[in-house]
Amino acid sequence: MAGAGGKPKAAEGPPSNFIRSIVADDVRSGKHARIVTRFPPEPNGYLHIGHAKAICVDFGIAGEFGGVCNLRFDDTNPAKEEVEYVESIQEDVRWLGFDWGENLFYASDYFERLHDWAVDLIRGGKAYVDSLTPDEIREYRGTLTKAGRNSPYRDRPIEESLDLFARMRAGEFEEGTHVLRAKIDMASPNVNLRDPALYRVRKAAHHRTGDRWCIYPMYDYAHPLSDAIEHVTHSLCTLEFADHRPLYDWCIENLDVPSRPRQIEFARLNLSYTVMSKRRLRELVADGLVSGWDDPRMPTLAGLRRRGFTPEAIRDFCERIGVAKADNLVDVALLEHCLREDLNRRAPRTMAVLRPLKVVIDNYPEGAEEELEAVNNPEDPAMGKRTVPFSRELWIEHEDFREVPPPKYFRLSPGTEVRLRWGYLIRCTGVVKDASGEPTEVHCTYDPETRGGNAPDGRKVKSTIHWVSARHAVPAEVRLYDRLFSVEAPEGPSWKEHLNPNALETLERCWIEPSLAGAAPGSHWQFERLGYFVVDEDSRSDRKVFNRTVSLRDTWARIEKKGF
Ligand code: ATP
Ligand code: MG
Repeated sequence: MAGAGGKPKAAEGPPSNFIRSIVADDVRSGKHARIVTRFPPEPNGYLHIGHAKAICVDFGIAGEFGGVCNLRFDDTNPAKEEVEYVESIQEDVRWLGFDWGENLFYASDYFERLHDWAVDLIRGGKAYVDSLTPDEIREYRGTLTKAGRNSPYRDRPIEESLDLFARMRAGEFEEGTHVLRAKIDMASPNVNLRDPALYRVRKAAHHRTGDRWCIYPMYDYAHPLSDAIEHVTHSLCTLEFADHRPLYDWCIENLDVPSRPRQIEFARLNLSYTVMSKRRLRELVADGLVSGWDDPRMPTLAGLRRRGFTPEAIRDFCERIGVAKADNLVDVALLEHCLREDLNRRAPRTMAVLRPLKVVIDNYPEGAEEELEAVNNPEDPAMGKRTVPFSRELWIEHEDFREVPPPKYFRLSPGTEVRLRWGYLIRCTGVVKDASGEPTEVHCTYDPETRGGNAPDGRKVKSTIHWVSARHAVPAEVRLYDRLFSVEAPEGPSWKEHLNPNALETLERCWIEPSLAGAAPGSHWQFERLGYFVVDEDSRSDRKVFNRTVSLRDTWARIEKKGF
């Protein structure tokens, strides 16, 4: 299936993909008794929607074949890693709906073994301590078109390398003075094989091992060996690691490791109108351009959760985009489409007014009120009914009234009749304006015969608008979101200049129907005609804050129908 996504979900089970086929073959041939995969985040930031794809693939494959997926922190770089990230990553994986059971590991737990294997490599003449400067190493490495040159230290005696490596570990050398390198091939067309570094000196405290180490293994060395230690059968990762696979295999083949994992690469997820590298996301947080990792504009799982995305919608999205070998840019409209499908099922309908305009129903008795019956979810009768209070003064949406209606405007304007959702038909009789000509109060009459929304004489109205009874309304703040970037693929050194300045709009004087007064943080609601909303954690008992998760207009359904 194409990575572009958008194909309807297969009715029977998930569609196949090349990874499922490989694993199925390995199961059939008896190559592995048990399938083991792993999700290996580096704890240097929060997880994003791209990681969600990897998590769904890693845990999904293991789950389908009755195996396990390990959660392994790839914590080999002490400088950038923090406990906060270790915790947020676990929370996010769990929230997405996956369980690693007992299988929580840290690459740092293997430091001793990784070190001993490095000594084995030196003893076997397969690794050496190089004493060139970092600049010299770069220069000796050559380029894509030019072969590299051997370091003058490449053939230093094994005993000397062993001694230097021991002294590197003992802390005798400063960063950048010595490095342990694999002895492979400086002329290899694959730059990754030109005597790659295996260990370097880093005098930094590690979040788990403290000051115990001052040499740290490189990712390309630690990763295959960690996989082997954990008996990972299929090490699934993104395409940028394809060129590293020969080095992955070299490590496995040249050491006496307990198992032989196989690396398989798939395309990473890129999503339009956002950025997806932790480095860039970290920059947005550090520069204060967003309120934090969980800012609802962020493509992080914490941000999406706060925005009101559900794990079900994200998993559905990951299933639909599929797993392929070609990089592409997925339309964020598809993600939003999956979200609307899920929220349509789960979110009760309610009424709220975001930009209020007062309506006075002159022929409704002052002081009177009544309860009107409203359906909670037309898609799901089991969600039942509620009542909404009605009285003489209401709030309606400012844009639902026009003193001089443009063509095809069927909402409220002087002389026209509209339906109040779940209520009566009302006809506009006049408008009060302020000094600048802005309407401040709309006057109407209601037809008492139309309770519930239909006229006994069968006359039709062209529009139904939402409303809240002014006397009963509860105040709220509502935050509206738009795309984080105003271009599809923000790239280049000036990527931050493409941030959308209108990605957050805060409306502080909104009114919600009283049934929402007790809505719990994290609960999902549809505000009729306005979209899906979630109660934000900033809510206080006397003041609710809602985030708009997504509007109701589904651009993906339109794209799908038109076929482009
Ligand atoms: P970033 O580039 O955002 O920093 P990363 O690859 O450095 O991401 P890791 O913590 O190393 O982040 O990633 C853990 C796993 O998630 C890796 O196996 C990686 O391949 C996968 N992954 C990261 N980004 C994506 C993405 N956009 N789509 C699919 N998988 C991804
Ligand atoms: Mg990484």
